Amino acid sequence: MKRIQNFIDGEFRPPCSGRYIEDVDPATGRVIAEIPESGAADVDAAVAAASRAFESWRRMPAEERSRLLLRVAELIEENFDELARLESEDNGKPVSLARRMDVPRAVLNFRFFATAILHAETRAHVTDDRALNYTLRQPLGVAGLISPWNLPLYLLTWKIAPAIAAGNCCVAKPSELTPLTADRLAALTAEAGIPPGVVNVVHGPGAGAGRALTAHPKVPLISFTGGTKTGADVMAQAGPLFKKVSLELGGKNPNIVFADADLEQAVATSIQSSFANQGEICLCGSRLFVERPVYDEFLGRFLEKTKQLRIGDPQDPSTEVGALISEAHLRKVEGYVALAKEEGGEILAGGKRPAELPERVRGGYFLEPTVIAGLDCSRRCMQEEIFGPVVTVTPFDSPEEAIAYANSTRYGLSSSVWTRDLQKAHRVAAAIDTGTVWVNTWLLRDLRVPFGGMKESGVGREGGFDSLDFFTEAKNVCIKL
Ligand code: NAP
Repeated sequence: MKRIQNFIDGEFRPPCSGRYIEDVDPATGRVIAEIPESGAADVDAAVAAASRAFESWRRMPAEERSRLLLRVAELIEENFDELARLESEDNGKPVSLARRMDVPRAVLNFRFFATAILHAETRAHVTDDRALNYTLRQPLGVAGLISPWNLPLYLLTWKIAPAIAAGNCCVAKPSELTPLTADRLAALTAEAGIPPGVVNVVHGPGAGAGRALTAHPKVPLISFTGGTKTGADVMAQAGPLFKKVSLELGGKNPNIVFADADLEQAVATSIQSSFANQGEICLCGSRLFVERPVYDEFLGRFLEKTKQLRIGDPQDPSTEVGALISEAHLRKVEGYVALAKEEGGEILAGGKRPAELPERVRGGYFLEPTVIAGLDCSRRCMQEEIFGPVVTVTPFDSPEEAIAYANSTRYGLSSSVWTRDLQKAHRVAAAIDTGTVWVNTWLLRDLRVPFGGMKESGVGREGGFDSLDFFTEAKNVCIKL
């Protein structure tokens, strides 16, 4: 069995505790690796290495840093097949999805920020004929980067690339449930020639290693992606130390289909936005609202396609729905399906574990794509993030009603609106309280745009120069003329 180690100061090291925890393949239920059970001492060592490395990394010309990051991107591409397989094994996602989305995006993240720093500009303010002000943007030091299990490599690289491109060093804490691609990435950064200490990876439980990182006095900024409850704890730890914090948190995203929409496209994309990655994407549209005149037609087509989705072995290239991340998570999602029934909901599709699965994955954590109708917006299943292959569907009668439904949760991450009426699209987009509104599409990402959540879906924005702004501190220099 594979045993992975922490990556600190350019070398792989065992955890100070000497203890390891198991990493399970959710498609089979079998242990595939052991990972360090790291704690405060490991985080201390990683932060010390990163602080030492910062002194020279921050002074390296941007062009040179850019060259090293571009080399990491190349190496991810060269190891594409292995990374896609590891991501699928660790997370349970279809390998086809890892190949189409996760690994290409990791490459893009490095390329994007490697080249963005070559185009960075700064501001100047001339105070009449009295003074000239200009703004320096400087790296802060050691960035703490905490990422979740649903898009492990995609989200880790979304943090590491801008953090180090901007001249910081980093200590990354991937989810203990999906450590394998982070481990490979650490090795690839060394192979690319990134100096020791610039990228450090500490594995282990959030309550141990993660908390030690957020509470570490020598880590002035934390970029966290994960659940809203954990985000509150991160904020509570980081607040009294006045850290810069970026929080990308949970969602309960509305997907609104108006009667004038292109129904074929709306159905096809809604299948993706409901069930891609088993519904374990923060941006999944887990609440479908359909205007009443087309409700029956939409639902009929949507259910037909839902039932056609191929659920099975994630390593099979034809599989469309893989396994949920863990047995505990599967039970949680099943609990919501049971709750939906208690709340008066009707299960129109799925709601149970698949009866037939290939031999290799019979011990895995699978759930059929599930569609629930008949729930009032105030119900828990309509309010809480389920984070599984479960979507609710509700009719509405006017744009105002759709907007009210959309805004009825404490979350505000993303939304989709389907209509051919441009005026309506603008009006509804402006009225929905989400950080991103997609019109006639879903998950179309331009890495330059501000990305983040409103309300309890997050604090701050990442993406493009928003990321580079987060990972640097503005300093004004005022020169008397
Ligand atoms: P999570 O339980 O909050 O964990 C996220 C990360 O934080 C993991 O690395 C976790 O480590 C660590 N952690 C746990 N407790 C911690 C603590 N007290 N202090 C510091 N770190 C701690 O979230 P998850 O279940 O992995 O991910 C699913 C959630 O992420 C969903 O709510 C989803 O919506 C959200 N998400 C949001 C976005 C976005 O961009 N807004 C993107 C993806 C996912 P362990 O895993 O080792 O416990």
